[in-house]
Amino acid sequence: MPTTSHEQEIKIKEAPSTDYQRFEVYKDVVEADWEDWHWQIKNRIQTKEQLSNILALARDEEEGLKHSEGRLAMAITPYWANLMDAADKNCPIRRQSVPLAAEFKKYPHEMIDPCAEDRDSPVPGLVHRYPDRVLFIATEQCAMYCRHCTRRRLVGGKNLGSYAKRLDATIEYIKANKKIRDCLISGGDPLMLEDSQLEEIIKRIRDISSIEFLRLGTRVPITMPMRITEQLVTMLKKYKPIWISIHVNHPLEITPRSRKALDMLSDGGMPLGSQTVLLKGINDRPFIMKKLMQQLLISRVRPYYIYHCDLARGTAHFRTPVAAGVNIIEKLRGFTSGYAVPSYVIDAPGGGGKVPIGPNYVISQNKGRFLFRNFQGKIYKYIE
Ligand SMILES: *Cc1c(COP(=O)(O)O)cnc(C)c1O
Ligand code: SF4
Repeated sequence: MPTTSHEQEIKIKEAPSTDYQRFEVYKDVVEADWEDWHWQIKNRIQTKEQLSNILALARDEEEGLKHSEGRLAMAITPYWANLMDAADKNCPIRRQSVPLAAEFKKYPHEMIDPCAEDRDSPVPGLVHRYPDRVLFIATEQCAMYCRHCTRRRLVGGKNLGSYAKRLDATIEYIKANKKIRDCLISGGDPLMLEDSQLEEIIKRIRDISSIEFLRLGTRVPITMPMRITEQLVTMLKKYKPIWISIHVNHPLEITPRSRKALDMLSDGGMPLGSQTVLLKGINDRPFIMKKLMQQLLISRVRPYYIYHCDLARGTAHFRTPVAAGVNIIEKLRGFTSGYAVPSYVIDAPGGGGKVPIGPNYVISQNKGRFLFRNFQGKIYKYIE
């Protein structure tokens, strides 16, 4: 049995209690409200006062809150807030949603639009980077705003302009480009739209003859799982196949409640994949990532990408060295189910697309002799 030091795992905190009534502020909330996603949106935590009702703010959080006004504002669903550890300012749930003073430092190599999406947008909110596929930013809204968001220049704002006009222009553009066979509906978060509005988008894109592959990118099953209703699933089912990519970063985000939402999507026939952003102090240790990937498999989510944190302005405190990502892949491959091993990618600064970065297993390649190592470092040769 191969073992390595990283197998001696430090125990990860148990999934937080999803009993929201243990929080004083939510004590009188009835379940029908808690389970209503419109209630969750309406009752999001958006001010310092609301946040200090559930936790004692650290000084750098207070500073962060002051600065974030009018920039990437804070918005935290009660569901997500309920997962926070009020006693630990390094709680991964809290760190991803509460602004810190560090967010407002500027570094010369950081960018407003790190992947040059705006440059590659023939229509505002439509990114056409790869030959056969496009990314459509359906809305700038999200249930919870991630402090590490790569699209922080856009999300939470209203810069993309009239939605109806944008959708018309997007449909026209895709129709005119017969090479586009794949459309990723993202945001922001498309599941912030009402069912009818989302259906209009899906229906119109599905009706384009060249489109054979349709997917949604969303964090809502994790930040506001009550959005996944029977009605939503029934609607999505009509347009199958639809693949869904879930943004999820830490094992604490997989709760009985979010699992139920993921189950409903899977049972509805939607294949699920995951996208995880590598975040310093949150998920940059191999045993945390391994646990997350394994939990995703149990929930029928196939790990798809781990992203290196982009050079978006204000996210330096979340970025790790690239070696941290390579090390994670090194400690997944061979040590857990192959299905639990995603691709680690850097979205090339300046708009080159996603580039896989991983451990090097090839030692040499010479005159038909191919030398490589396995996950344990043992060397093998293959004669061509
Ligand atoms: C990530 C991304 C896609 C989808 O890429 P896949 O590797 O096919 O998942 C498409 N367009 C843009 C602009 C993207 O950033
Ligand atoms: S859900 Fe996605 S788009 Fe929305 S804030 Fe988080 S990272 Fe940004």
